[in-house]
Amino acid sequence: MRTKMVAGNWKMNKTLQEGVALATELKERVMNPKCEVVIATPFIHLATVVELLKGSPIHVAAENCADHALGAYTGEVSAAMVASTGADYCIIGHSERRQYYAENYDILRTKVDLALENGLRPIFCIGEVKEEREANRQNEVVKAQLEGSVFHLNEENFRRVVLAYEPVWAIGTGLTATPEQAQEMHAYIRSLVEKKYGKAVAEDTTILYGGSCNAKNAAELFANADVDGGLIGGASLKADDFTTIINAR
Ligand code: PEP
Repeated sequence: MRTKMVAGNWKMNKTLQEGVALATELKERVMNPKCEVVIATPFIHLATVVELLKGSPIHVAAENCADHALGAYTGEVSAAMVASTGADYCIIGHSERRQYYAENYDILRTKVDLALENGLRPIFCIGEVKEEREANRQNEVVKAQLEGSVFHLNEENFRRVVLAYEPVWAIGTGLTATPEQAQEMHAYIRSLVEKKYGKAVAEDTTILYGGSCNAKNAAELFANADVDGGLIGGASLKADDFTTIINAR
């Protein structure tokens, strides 16, 4: 049985004190989740939040890592540094990184490799923009994203990757993919994994949906056979909403 998961992505929100308050609230509310729960926080929160969540089932992720192992890259944070905080996961390939920081397939492939080398599990994001969906090109887009940055992995390493399908037109817009659109794309992604790694790996691959998933629509999205959970942006910033989404999985 593949892991079901709800992961929050705080993005560039919350001061350290606000982040500690939110993590504390979540620790109190999320005691026995039926799925793996992850919160991705800004780099500066990681060590504090990992410490705070000791004894809690909630895992911690970084939202990004550098595409170099170490050295003279002022302002960057390496995968080794992330791992040294005790974080378990690292989001890689979020559309905001692709769009605003020009992260291409090669850069993302390097980040995936560095994350894995340092014991982190990548949560690798893929998804098409509005124009690509309107031109019915979504399948070729996600296929190219997978081939460009994760399908070079051997089976053992690929098994450590969580995929997140996030149609870019749905992120932070209030527009959600319909449950049918989500299921159709997740089944397609799973078929690509099967072609590359075989049926057993495909069946074990966790594929999250992200894009305006909230406390109201989560249950309907998660009810689909190939939707294994969610990557949640805005709604992960409120303990009430995030807890409701966790309970919907
Ligand atoms: C995200 O950025 O990963 C995301 C899914 O954002 P939102 O839930 O706010 O659309």
